[in-house]
Order: sequence, then C-alpha cells, then structure tokens
Amino acid sequence: MSELIRPIFVNVSIIVSLTFLANMIFPFNHKRPRTLKENLFFGLIGSIAAILCMIYPIEALRSTVFDLRTVPLMVITLYAGLIPGSMCALVIILARLWIGGEYAWVGVLLTIIALLTAFSYASLFREASKKWKPALVAGLLYFLFYIMIINMYVDFLPNSFYVAYFVPFYITYFLVLFLIDRLIQINMQLDETIYLGKLSILGQMAASIAHEIRNPLTTVRGMIQFISDDTEDRQLKQYAPLLIEEMDRSNKIISDYLALIKPNEMTLNQINLKKVVEDTLALLSPLGVYHNVIITSEVSHDKYVKADEHHLKQCLINLIKNGIEAIEEGGTISIKEKLSSPGHIDLIITDDGKGMTTKELEQIGLPFYTTKTKGTGLGTMITYKLIQNMKGSIFYKSFPEKGTTVTLRLPLMK
Ligand code: ADP
Ligand code: MG
Repeated sequence: MSELIRPIFVNVSIIVSLTFLANMIFPFNHKRPRTLKENLFFGLIGSIAAILCMIYPIEALRSTVFDLRTVPLMVITLYAGLIPGSMCALVIILARLWIGGEYAWVGVLLTIIALLTAFSYASLFREASKKWKPALVAGLLYFLFYIMIINMYVDFLPNSFYVAYFVPFYITYFLVLFLIDRLIQINMQLDETIYLGKLSILGQMAASIAHEIRNPLTTVRGMIQFISDDTEDRQLKQYAPLLIEEMDRSNKIISDYLALIKPNEMTLNQINLKKVVEDTLALLSPLGVYHNVIITSEVSHDKYVKADEHHLKQCLINLIKNGIEAIEEGGTISIKEKLSSPGHIDLIITDDGKGMTTKELEQIGLPFYTTKTKGTGLGTMITYKLIQNMKGSIFYKSFPEKGTTVTLRLPLMK
C-alpha cells in the first residue's frame, strides 16, 4: 500500500503546484477568446505536469505505466479548449512512445480518448453554472472507455487495480477543477477591487469638475437673460433663446452624470424585468430603426429583480446603444433571460456587430476608453458601477467580426 501512496502523493503534488504556478503567470479568468500566447502557455504547463507524472508512475507492471497524466490533459481541455489540450496530448503520446514497451499503443489510445471525451464536454462545461456536472460525466465516460480497453488488452490486472487507480484519479481531477474555480473567483474579486478604487477617485474628480463648470454656466445664463431682456440689439434678441437653450442642455448633461456618479441615490426595489426591458426598448427603437437594427426580446413577465429602476434602465440603454453602434450595416440585437447561478437571473444581450479583440475587451470599462469619434468612454464604466451597486455583475464575450454578448447578472427578488 505504501508503495502506492507515495507516487500518488507525488503525482497530486506535481499537478496542484503546477496549477498554482500557471495561475501566477496567467491568472485564470472567464475571458474568452484567449490569446495564442495563453493557449500555448496552458498547453505547455499541462504537458510539463503530465511528463512529471509519467516520471513518477503509480504502478509499472510488465511495461504498463499508470499515473495521473490524463488529469492535466482533461482539465486543460475542459477549461482552455482544443489547442492546449491537443498540445498536451501530443506531448504525452510522444513521451509514451519514447518509453516504449508492448503496451505503449494502449497508452496512446487512452490519451486520445481522454482528449476527445474532455473536448466533447468542453463547451458545455464552459457554459454551465454547475460545472461539476459535465466534468463528472466526462470523467465517467473516460473511465468507461478505460475499463473496456484495459480489460481487452491488458488482461493481467486485478480488479482492485481499478479502484486503486480511479479513486486518486477522481479526487485529483475534482480537486484541480475546484482549485481553478476558486482561483478564478479570487482573481475576479481582486480585479474588481482595483477597478472600484480607480473608479471612486475618478467619480470624485468628475463630480468636482462638473460642479466647477455648472457654477459659471449658471452665471453666464443669468447674464444673457438679463442683457437680452432690455437690449435694442436685434441679433442678440434673436439668438439669446438659442444660447440659453444650449446652456440648459449642457447643464442637463452635467446633472445626469452627477446623478449617476453619486452612489447614495440608489433605492433598491422589486422591479419587473420585462417591464424595464420593454420601457428601454421603447426608448431605443427609433435609434435602432435609424441604424437598421432589429431588436428582439424574450423576457418572461414573472421575473422580479432587486434593483433601482432608473439605474437599471440607464445600464440597459448604455449596453444596447453600444450594440447598435457596433452594428455598421444593419443587424440584430437579441435580449434573452437565463436562470444560471442560484438566486440570480442573467439578461443576455447579443449583437452581431463588429465585436472586439481580446486587447479591446481588456480595456472596456476603463475610464475614457473609446474607439468612437463622438464617444465618451464613460458608458460602460458607469454601467459597471451601477450594476455593482445593485449587487449584480457583468461579463463580456466578444469575437471580432462576429459580435458581442453581454451577460448582466442581477439578484432575483425572493
Ligand atoms: P463609448 O460608447 O462612448 O465609446 P463605452 O464605455 O460605452 O463608451 O464603450 C467603450 C468602447 O467599448 C466603445 O468605444 C467600443 O469600442 C467598445 N464596445 C462597447 N460595447 C461594444 C459592443 N457591443 N460591440 C463592440 N464594441 C463595443
Ligand atoms: Mg457607449
């Protein structure tokens, strides 16, 4: 027994420590698509983990080699997809062929099966809110193939072997999946904290600047009104109302931003999601028609969220407007709902506009980041902050030339 426990322990340690190492270099996140550099890196880390596992096999009976090498292979394929998965599989296959022996090809076959089972559940895994389910099915499927193949070709193994091999396999497999999930959460919280810090400084600055501008504006407005009332100048009389109107407009823009930046004006109520979406669409459909964009919504009437109606509308306006502006020559925007994590509802806004590259995705929500000539680069930032105040969250998924999906996660009313 002890000759089993030692190598198992070594295998587990290798895999766990490399998981942490990978997280140090490229912190795990939900962002997609990944860059090629990240994909290659995850492939490399998986390969190193697998090779090290193979150097310390759990059992090596008559030229067979058993170790946990398929754990990194399957985990990486589930999380990062086919490129890193195939890279890792290729390295394992080459290493197994290099070790040689009459059962080398069984090892190769099992590696391919591990890659394929993990890959066939990868997209389900990425979308799922309860990730353990597809992971469990992929693991069981692999185990089934495994028993079949080993039973057929390596017939001298006792039944107790399967237990001795698969119990540590499963424990490590789920341990690593759990670790990565936790690390993603921690990384996201860290990002958010840094982001909110920047935001609060910016908010204070914007509020004071807005205030400084509003004061002289009010004075000038009063002066114009005063002078124009008893002047003989025809031109001044004619243009004064226009001047005043433009000043009122500037004042309103500033007031709107101030209202958004002030955090204490939020009141959380029970809000009917369908009603808010419909109100927003009524407001935006002229803009949609103008840009040749069809907006569809499928939201059921019985969903209530805990939110501030005015702020939620503002967020939807910002997000849908961005969608409309991303569509250049006509297209569609769809709004759907999905119950994902417990106690929350997802509002999924998808456009088929020009999309964003990974680099652009990283910058979205940063103050003053815009790619538009008339953009302010404040819309997404304000949306992030408002949603955060409502205890919700936002995720972006975007592919250049294909479109963007924004997921707005809001707390459901009990
Ligand atoms: P603005 O709309 O004023 O530019 P935002 O903060 O709303 O500011 O958006 C910042 C940038 O993010 C935009 O300029 C655009 O490049 C990008 N962006 C936001 N939403 C989308 C989208 N749905 N599709 C493509 N690009 C988007
Ligand atoms: Mg915008």
